[in-house]
Amino acid sequence: MSAERDPERDPEHVLVLGGTTEARRLAQALAGDPAYRVTTSLAGRVASPVLPPGEVRVGGFGGVEGLARWIVEHGVTRVVDATHPFAEHMSFHASGAGALTGVPLLALRRPGWTPGPGDAWTFADSLAHAADLVAELGDRVFLTTGRTGLHAFAGLTDTWFLVRSVDPPQGPVPPRLEVLLARGPFDLAQERELLARHRIDLLVTKDSGGSATAPKLTAAREAGVPVLVVRRPPTPAHVPEAHSVEAALQWLGGADRGSSGPL
Ligand code: NAP
Repeated sequence: MSAERDPERDPEHVLVLGGTTEARRLAQALAGDPAYRVTTSLAGRVASPVLPPGEVRVGGFGGVEGLARWIVEHGVTRVVDATHPFAEHMSFHASGAGALTGVPLLALRRPGWTPGPGDAWTFADSLAHAADLVAELGDRVFLTTGRTGLHAFAGLTDTWFLVRSVDPPQGPVPPRLEVLLARGPFDLAQERELLARHRIDLLVTKDSGGSATAPKLTAAREAGVPVLVVRRPPTPAHVPEAHSVEAALQWLGGADRGSSGPL
């Protein structure tokens, strides 16, 4: 099902499944290199996303088959799944489409966070599990798990929540809620000030990893605020992984040398 390509003449057409800083950085790194044509795909959740260089398409593909069709019809030669570690459906769709088309797939996943000395972390297996644990851990909660999962906390009527998101939440939300509209990255001084101003006594976060939103963890440690961390969902088996943009570039660069290189 994969398209024919003359490696001497045709650039690699890389489809980057995006929505993350890493996806943008990858597109930036390949921009201007005539050996690559890059299309970044965004789900369309954010009203005004920060756009990467190169071509951009927005919206779902229509499941595994839709993605496979798009890959073939657009002559894609490499797919990089650079979606967020919690975008679990898209990663499985990418894996399925890779199997259908035979087009090589790499998952670019930033490493998760690990607690250090002084951290008081509790782990939850899902947002629903986190909601079960919140009431016994805090009263004034900084909830940074994203606006789309707020329904999991909607039944918590006694807990006060501060939610920070790029766009306003939609759907069921907890009744005692303050929304702060903001786009990261956030620095340590901002996070310290936020925790103190709102007298936060619990931080709830997904294990997103990366540096853009990590200062909140440092601020929590400094302030003695416990952290409830939602573990990552499962990922598809047998998909090679890179843990940095540099490693993903190495995988892409290996294409014409007939080797994918160490990741
Ligand atoms: P998801 O549950 O894995 O995906 C749901 C559906 O959205 C997919 O089946 C697909 O629709 C579409 N989709 C997802 N990512 C897409 C992409 N890059 N391009 C085109 N369609 C996409 O994902 P999600 O958790 O809703 O996240 C949506 C997007 O937001 C992702 O791209 C992710 O990188 C970004 N994001 C997510 C989080 C998070 O915590 N989940 C945080 C930051 C950024 P079809 O089946 O129709 O193709």
